Amino acid sequence: MAKTNASHRWRILTTSIVRNFARHFLRRSSNKRYIVLLGGPGAGKGTLASQLAALLGIAHLGMGDVLRRKDIQIEFGDRLAPMKSGGLIPDSLILEILERELARPEYANGAILDGIPRTLEQALLLERRLAWQGVSVNNTVLLDVEEEELIERLSFRRICPTPSCRRSYHLKYAPPQVADICDACKGPLIQRPDDVPEVIRERLRKYSVEILPLCKYYQDARRVMVTVKSTKGSTPQEVLNLVMTALSGN
Ligand SMILES: [Zn+2]
Repeated sequence: MAKTNASHRWRILTTSIVRNFARHFLRRSSNKRYIVLLGGPGAGKGTLASQLAALLGIAHLGMGDVLRRKDIQIEFGDRLAPMKSGGLIPDSLILEILERELARPEYANGAILDGIPRTLEQALLLERRLAWQGVSVNNTVLLDVEEEELIERLSFRRICPTPSCRRSYHLKYAPPQVADICDACKGPLIQRPDDVPEVIRERLRKYSVEILPLCKYYQDARRVMVTVKSTKGSTPQEVLNLVMTALSGN
């Protein structure tokens, strides 16, 4: 009995030494960086993510785009079915897809995460997943935009649905050169079905509930969050400048 206990303790000890060494080594050798973008629908996370990606050389991972992608739909289609009717997809499935995605070579330098995590559970699962590689979320940026401004932005938003393009326009402030046609790829623009007023209100209500525990976690527990206010008329470049300043002081 004593022998069993001793060998059991020894096994735990060696396992933890090996694990700590691996973490220490990976952390030292890893130059991966993970930045989480938080903010309501229409806050400009996608635009900011593309700008940061180009500036920092870290790939943008938009979870909404990943979930809509053909290969993911083919592989996980049945399990993602509730998404189409506004139902909930389990956090574990979202993380399974994220994990698969992060293993792709374009994320060798880390990722700028937009649209994930949406819940505290997802944030904790993400942290656990990254810990295995000896890394963690380095920064979180909360794009703080007033609700009326979000409604205004979303209801005038038109997007290019071409998967390789996905450029976004605002009919008042950033209209396409030719009405309803994408400047970049010349494809037809669409209004997302969830960018209509009654659905927007519901999305904002859901967001205001979801964001609280995430802010608490990243701000109070992890202390990696910066908040950047984006007001009416802020250009994407101005928002980017504020974010870069905030990140350099973080
Ligand atoms: Zn386009």
